[in-house]
Amino acid sequence: MSISKNFQKIAPTVPSVVTLVAVSKFHPESDIMEAYQAGYRTFGESRPQELVRKYEALPKDIEWHMIGHLQTNKIRPIAPFVTLIHSIDSLRLAQAVSAEGEHIGRQIPVLLQVHVAREETKSGFTPDELLELLTNGTLQSLSGMQLKGIMAMASLTDDTALIRNEFHQVKMLFDTIKANHLPSISMLSMGMSSDYMTAIEQGSTIVRIGSALFGTRT
Ligand SMILES: *Cc1c(COP(=O)(O)O)cnc(C)c1O
Repeated sequence: MSISKNFQKIAPTVPSVVTLVAVSKFHPESDIMEAYQAGYRTFGESRPQELVRKYEALPKDIEWHMIGHLQTNKIRPIAPFVTLIHSIDSLRLAQAVSAEGEHIGRQIPVLLQVHVAREETKSGFTPDELLELLTNGTLQSLSGMQLKGIMAMASLTDDTALIRNEFHQVKMLFDTIKANHLPSISMLSMGMSSDYMTAIEQGSTIVRIGSALFGTRT
């Protein structure tokens, strides 16, 4: 199926209040242009170099989201233009992004990534770490970034009940943080090709969909 047909199939299944980030990582600029010509403007990438290359080559009204693990020494090139960094997964990275934001005079919009999945390999704050860093005000003091919400990934499994439970935990954590620490947060980024329906059912406001739109990555 063509990319625009995939978009025509998937987009109507995402409620209009939920942002669809089309994850274009590893796919060529021509694929992104096909989606762009069909009207899509919000794309997600997981590698800073690829993000910069595509930003430079493609139309400037595209909103670029950084969704993958970010190393502190790769922040600088994306800091001026990135629409949202979903993957703030450590205090060290938060401090480095904020320092860069202060340096360039931009409050960089970010999400705090929380780890709830079973896989040890996935990154992110544990819920307890996050609550501690918010209770003592450490994250709020980072003035070069704007805390917009929470991002999470569920375990890689066919067990829908487990996935639903993990997304539910994240939604409860989001509600707690919003009630007690960050009243202005509004974004909850969860859900990928295989589990976005469950994520939306559990309160996601941003889904990150790659392979269902662009096909399998090579
Ligand atoms: C690659 C990626 C996605 C998209 O995954 P698909 O299964 O292709 O939809 C979503 N979120 C993150 C963080 C990713 O790295």
